[in-house]
Amino acid sequence: MGLKRGNEVSIKEKVNIKDVRLRMKENETVDVILLGINDYVQYESHSSFNHQIYPQPCFDVIDKPCPFCEAYKSGHVEMKPVQRFSFAFYCVDSDKVMFWDATYTQGKKLIKQIRDFAEDIEYGTVFKFERTGKGTDTAYNLIPKAERKLSPKEKGLLESTKGMTVEDEMFEEVCRPVTEDYARELLFNGFGFGEKVEREGTKPKKAVLPF
Ligand SMILES: [Zn+2]
Repeated sequence: MGLKRGNEVSIKEKVNIKDVRLRMKENETVDVILLGINDYVQYESHSSFNHQIYPQPCFDVIDKPCPFCEAYKSGHVEMKPVQRFSFAFYCVDSDKVMFWDATYTQGKKLIKQIRDFAEDIEYGTVFKFERTGKGTDTAYNLIPKAERKLSPKEKGLLESTKGMTVEDEMFEEVCRPVTEDYARELLFNGFGFGEKVEREGTKPKKAVLPF
């Protein structure tokens, strides 16, 4: 017990997915701080835009049999699991940790940038995270901001976020699959796969939209 100092503080709030998804428009730039050089996870996901199934984490993430994998194995090749990444950033404007979801190719590129900037990240740097282009030309880049250009708020945040970590639970929450019923509903509506499900309970989590 007792009060925790900066380096002991961890962020462990219940994540409301809607509030922590970082989505960017074309040519939008967001100022971010990377809390560490390993604040991302790789996970498997299923999607088929033609069947209105937007990227859905594989149930493998929660060690459960996956309806999407089941559809894939029974011949719906579009449901083949693919790798995606989720990155955690501390966003300056919203003053909280947010998660950016990336395709394998986008993620691989960002990981390379994170590794190239490892020293700056560990030292404490504010980056511009920039989205340019559209469609298949969409690109995301991390660009370090010069220390002399930092606002007082940014300088303060670099201090106050030192030692903060992103808990595994936050990533688990962000990469949590939809309910099995909702997965089956998507598969039935998209492919006519399985049987129509009468869903009970609360509204399911919204799918991760790709743009
Ligand atoms: Zn799966």
